[in-house]
Amino acid sequence: TTALMAPPLGPLLDDIVRSHTPQRESGSVPATIPHLAAVPFNRFGIAVATTSGELFSSGDAHVPFSIQSISKVFTLAMALRGDGPGTLWSRVLREPSGTSFNSLVQLEVEHGIPRNPFINAGALVVTDHLMNETPDAATRLLRFLTEEAGSAGPFIDEDAAASELSSSSRNLALAHFLKDFGNLARPAESVVENYVRQCSIMMTCVELAKAGLFLARDGQGTHGPVVSRSEAKRIGSIMLTCGMYDAAGEFAYRVGLPGKSGVGGGILVIVPGECAICVWSPRLDAKGNSLAGTAALADLSDRTGWSVF
Ligand code: GLU
Repeated sequence: TTALMAPPLGPLLDDIVRSHTPQRESGSVPATIPHLAAVPFNRFGIAVATTSGELFSSGDAHVPFSIQSISKVFTLAMALRGDGPGTLWSRVLREPSGTSFNSLVQLEVEHGIPRNPFINAGALVVTDHLMNETPDAATRLLRFLTEEAGSAGPFIDEDAAASELSSSSRNLALAHFLKDFGNLARPAESVVENYVRQCSIMMTCVELAKAGLFLARDGQGTHGPVVSRSEAKRIGSIMLTCGMYDAAGEFAYRVGLPGKSGVGGGILVIVPGECAICVWSPRLDAKGNSLAGTAALADLSDRTGWSVF
């Protein structure tokens, strides 16, 4: 719910951009994807798409960036949508991991059943699940995002995907591990390739906020229902508990909203019934979440009263 004292959103976002755009280099770039290190540190964008159909944005909100793990929210939604008998949830759990997003250890302890769909092992299972219907799951995701964003802008950065694929030993290890436990139908290499391409989709804050709006709108997308109201609630719950790597608790404490971040520096946040927010700034904290983005969202939720609590 919106606090009555909150200033109008346009000027408020401008103010957020003024106070949170990084003035000097701090934070880190993802070690696993050299391609992303080239993005200037002083980029900062924010966009808010409201359930009443309004759109507000400020800063670098129209600059495309690599969505990386934010893609996991959308692949989960697509998998659940087509998952009549509920087989996905026999292959992946719904508990926070408390370990890093690409950890192998937990997978062995849990006998090849990943802790949740937002760590890499879980996301690989979701991608494998989607590949049952369409072998080129990444292109299908791109089409979905293009439709929901109402923009022809999103594209797969094939160079970034190729560069990540050439150093994907760990994701391949995870995929082979899953395969060994019988939790991967397709060849490990093809699942990782699809997964890396899905992570390499380029979108702007504006496009991502619009694409994520169905989660704030009880599952209703741009062209009709994406998922049911119950599924929208459940995806939001998994975002709240598992969406920010092993800093989900800290993010819930500071922001009080379900979110999903990616190592490209983007964070998608849902305010149920109100809006979807996307913020982007490329430098990351020690847990892999956008440094300036997280601070900006904490500020925004304090100043608007937006929170699920
Ligand atoms: N493609 C990245 C990886 O698998 C995604 C990392 C992320 O955004 O969490 O390492």
